Amino acid sequence: MKRLILASNNKKKIKEMKEILRDLDVEVKSLENENINIDVVEDGKTFEENAKKKASEIYEFLLERGDKNFIVLADDSGLVVEYLHGEPGIYSARYAGEHGNDEKNNEKLLNNLKGVDKKNRDAKFICQLAMITDTGEYFKVTGDVKGYIIEAAYGEKGFGYDPLFLYEELNKTFAQLTPNEKNKISHRGVALKKLKKIISSVL
Ligand code: IMP
Repeated sequence: MKRLILASNNKKKIKEMKEILRDLDVEVKSLENENINIDVVEDGKTFEENAKKKASEIYEFLLERGDKNFIVLADDSGLVVEYLHGEPGIYSARYAGEHGNDEKNNEKLLNNLKGVDKKNRDAKFICQLAMITDTGEYFKVTGDVKGYIIEAAYGEKGFGYDPLFLYEELNKTFAQLTPNEKNKISHRGVALKKLKKIISSVL
C-alpha cells in the first residue's frame, strides 16, 4: 500500500487530516512517523508557494533517502480578514511573533479588531494543498470557509483561531464543533474532499 506522507509538524492539523483521509486506500503518515526531522522555512509570498515548498522539500528528502511508493501532501493554511488587509494571512501561525502561539495570535487579532463593528469582522479560512507523487507529478487544490470574528474566544475544541471564528450557518465557533462537524465544512475538509478524488486516481 502507498504511504501518504503529510509534510507538517502541526499535530492538530495532522490529526484532522488523518481523520478526513482515513477512508482512502493509503497509509497516512506524519513526518514524525517517518522519522523525518525537517522544519521547512515558510518564506513564500502566498499560501501556494509555501505549500509547494513544504511538499517539494520533503519529496526531495524522500527521493534522496531512496524511498519508493509514496505521495507527499502539504497544507498551508490561515485566516484572512479583509478589514485587516488580508492579515494574518500567510503569517497566521506566527501573527504575534512566536510560531504556533495560538493564545498570543488570538489576542493580537482581537486587539486589532477592537471596536470594529460586525460588518467589518468578516473572515475566511483558506487551505492550500500541494501534493507530489513518487513519479514527480504535482497537484494543487484549495478550500475555504467564510465566517466572522467574534469579540471574545468561545469554545474549547480545535486549534488556532477556531475559538474566534463564528460559522453563521450553525451559529457556533469552530471551537464548539466536534471534529466531525468541523471537517465537514472547514477549509481543510473542503480542500481534502477535492483532493481525495485525485489521490484515488493516482493510486
Ligand atoms: P501553517 O502551518 O503555516 O499552514 O499555519 C497554519 C496556521 O493558520 C495555524 O497555526 C493557525 O493559526 C491557522 N489555521 C489554519 N487552519 C486552521 C484551523 O482549521 N483552525 C484554526 N486556525 C487555523
